[in-house]
Amino acid sequence: MLDRRELFPHVIEINHQARRRFGCSVYLVHSGTEWVLIDIGYEDTADEIIEMIRQMDFPLAGCKYLIATHADVDHIQGFGKAHNLLPDAKIAGHPDAAQLLKDRDRLMTYAEIAAQGISIDLPEIIINHIVNEGDKIQIGDLELEVWHTPGHTNGQLSFRLGNLLFSGDNLFKDGCVGNIDAHHGSDIPDFIESLTRIRDSDVEWLLPSHGPVFRKDAKMIQKTIDRLEGYLHMADFGTCAVDWPLLDAWEQELVEGIDPTKS
Ligand SMILES: [Zn+2]
Repeated sequence: MLDRRELFPHVIEINHQARRRFGCSVYLVHSGTEWVLIDIGYEDTADEIIEMIRQMDFPLAGCKYLIATHADVDHIQGFGKAHNLLPDAKIAGHPDAAQLLKDRDRLMTYAEIAAQGISIDLPEIIINHIVNEGDKIQIGDLELEVWHTPGHTNGQLSFRLGNLLFSGDNLFKDGCVGNIDAHHGSDIPDFIESLTRIRDSDVEWLLPSHGPVFRKDAKMIQKTIDRLEGYLHMADFGTCAVDWPLLDAWEQELVEGIDPTKS
């Protein structure tokens, strides 16, 4: 029997529980005899995580849902294996995540990044419980409220539990955000909207999908939003930017016949 190291009432984070880093954050939320996992990480740590959960005295039959914050392989690869051990659990996620996993889309899920020689297995994972904005996920007496928070990818979900927000890859403790990448369906205006929603909400704690939990700080989030506002007009983010003022100015200079060597 393992002592449960709850971060908040009803909430255990597996890396924190184990006092070492497995990979992405893996949240166990429980009430009464029911529990869910929010993400699980890679396949090679899934068995150990399920064994820890068993040793914390959670009956495996009590697992109601395996919930995907989004379809990235570093968050969900282990669901295939976990589902074998937890056959009664449904796999929950956004319709876009369900489609990517149904199509076994290796690019959008980051299973394949050819330019970097990254090619990892994406097992068959079937999201059989679709959730989207405004839906509720019942766990015993608790209710997770589903927020659709696109930006990092369109299928990105967050989940509110009272004053806590399981905030996915929207924002991390250092002010970084989840990877912005056109090939991943990232959308900077959507990202800004999701961050603004989080900033203006009355949640008190953010429980991100990477790194430690942290207290919500409107000033810090604003700094991140300001940075992303800048990205909208920078070539650094390619087609994720909406314009590039340098080229507009250059066009004007060309029309006016300005010689850049003489200005
Ligand atoms: Zn991630």
